[in-house]
Amino acid sequence: MVLYSHSRISTFRQCPYRFRLRYIERIRPEIEQSVEAYLGSTVHATLEKLYRDMRFQKLNTLEELLKYYNTEWKKNWNPAILVVRKDYTPENYRKMGEKFITDYYNSHKPFDQTKTVGLEQRIVLELDSQGKYKLQGYIDRLAIAPDGTYEIHDYKTNSSLPLKEYLEEDRQLALYALAVRKNYPNAKRIKLIWHFLSFNQDVKLEKTDEELEKLRNSVISDIKEIESAKDHPTRKSALCDWCEFRSMCPEWAHITKTEKMSLKAFLKDSGVNLVNTYAELTEKKKQIESEMAAVRDRLVKFAETSGVKAIAGSGHIARVWSAEKFKFPGKNDEGRAELEDFLRKSGLMKDVVSLDTFLLSAKMDSTEWPQEIKKAVARFGRKERIDRIYLSRKRPE
Ligand code: SF4
Repeated sequence: MVLYSHSRISTFRQCPYRFRLRYIERIRPEIEQSVEAYLGSTVHATLEKLYRDMRFQKLNTLEELLKYYNTEWKKNWNPAILVVRKDYTPENYRKMGEKFITDYYNSHKPFDQTKTVGLEQRIVLELDSQGKYKLQGYIDRLAIAPDGTYEIHDYKTNSSLPLKEYLEEDRQLALYALAVRKNYPNAKRIKLIWHFLSFNQDVKLEKTDEELEKLRNSVISDIKEIESAKDHPTRKSALCDWCEFRSMCPEWAHITKTEKMSLKAFLKDSGVNLVNTYAELTEKKKQIESEMAAVRDRLVKFAETSGVKAIAGSGHIARVWSAEKFKFPGKNDEGRAELEDFLRKSGLMKDVVSLDTFLLSAKMDSTEWPQEIKKAVARFGRKERIDRIYLSRKRPE
């Protein structure tokens, strides 16, 4: 039986291919860690020390804490750590960490507002009554407030401050709340607290029992999807820049490889040559299409002014067809909702609605529909290979 974690599940949701390399094939990536992850773990270790020492009645001064942070940073740093944002150096990140710790220290001093129950505390949660689906995680800091409320603290070193709505959907701490509720029967209230260190801001939320149960079911359904997945397609996103498997991912392998080539080798590469030819032809096609549109307009005009509907050429005849047709608001246009409402109320909708098979196919690829539904729908279709080429401009170096 697999012991799941929030990160295991969210890796699958983010990119099934990354999940396959990391958890099924267990491939050792070229890049073990990004500088952001390194910053996060060093700051976490420092705040853990702060609260660990507090248990022994030792309150570190800010200077002592920063000294610890900088020693850890130096001790564990290795040149293989990936810095994606080329405008910044590791030193910039180290200083950011100093600022996070300083702000946190000054805002939360003397750190005795709550009683710490656990640091980096491992929790295991049985999601179903048969113990088939288990989840484990580590709570940065679990504490009890004077009124008996349990607090799940999480330190975030992100450079963006997520909206409250986003955090309401965030599942990690809510899952921990389920575990705390089970392991600490006296926990009548549980608060989720995110410390956004970049902004020196804390965001607090509480979940109702109903929300937590809904989450439990949705995580079980995710695990079922992971366990029944036969394909693990790549899912490109902005997060690819931080992916440890970028150089071996089909989406990026050729790009990464050619970035390291000399100009001579680059221009000799067959892939590079094919793309260049394809791009040239695409440009020509665009040019031809625009010329054709202009000639079409002139043909229509010619037919109008000459009062004819067919125009003779050397080997072809061009027939011009023109008519006035109704145009209705498109899917996202103003007036669309009213039109749909009218057709529905008049019982005419079924006469004009047809199945959008493109949308149906997209739904089958998405994680929106439960597996049972997808399975039932799959009987009506068949898988077939489609090849398309999308050209896009390369990002400047
Ligand atoms: S680089 Fe992107 S698409 Fe490729 S495995 Fe990583 S996350 Fe997935």
